[in-house]
Amino acid sequence: MGRSYWFECPKCGYRTKVSGRADRGLSFFVQTLLCRDCKELYDAVTRLKVPDEPGGLRTLAGLDRVKFMKPSPVIIAPPTFQAVLNRLPPKGVKRYKWLPVKLQCPVSALHRVRSWNDPGPCPKCGVFLEKSALPYRLWD
Ligand SMILES: [Zn+2]
Ligand SMILES: [Zn+2]
Repeated sequence: MGRSYWFECPKCGYRTKVSGRADRGLSFFVQTLLCRDCKELYDAVTRLKVPDEPGGLRTLAGLDRVKFMKPSPVIIAPPTFQAVLNRLPPKGVKRYKWLPVKLQCPVSALHRVRSWNDPGPCPKCGVFLEKSALPYRLWD
């Protein structure tokens, strides 16, 4: 079960809802990222559970941004947090495996990102963000 929180900057008013750390749901892992080019925080998918059987990866077809690196699969164009959240679990699959996902900004793979953990600085002005006491949302 993952949790998202509101984070708000007391100085510039920047506001966003992210997990603020590494977190996991039933079918994927996330990590909050700070993109230095966008000056935004994002929840990025870092691991995705996929069917471990022939043709199993095709069930990811709805996730149109998935591309794999060969020979060992690493997802290099990860789906967005929202896309995996809305994904329906494939039916009749008995075995799964976890695929690592390359950390990158959802806007551009060329952007410079690093992981961001609460308590951490505002991506706009650098003041520490304040976290809401209650989760904004429970997911997966
Ligand atoms: Zn700020
Ligand atoms: Zn970016």
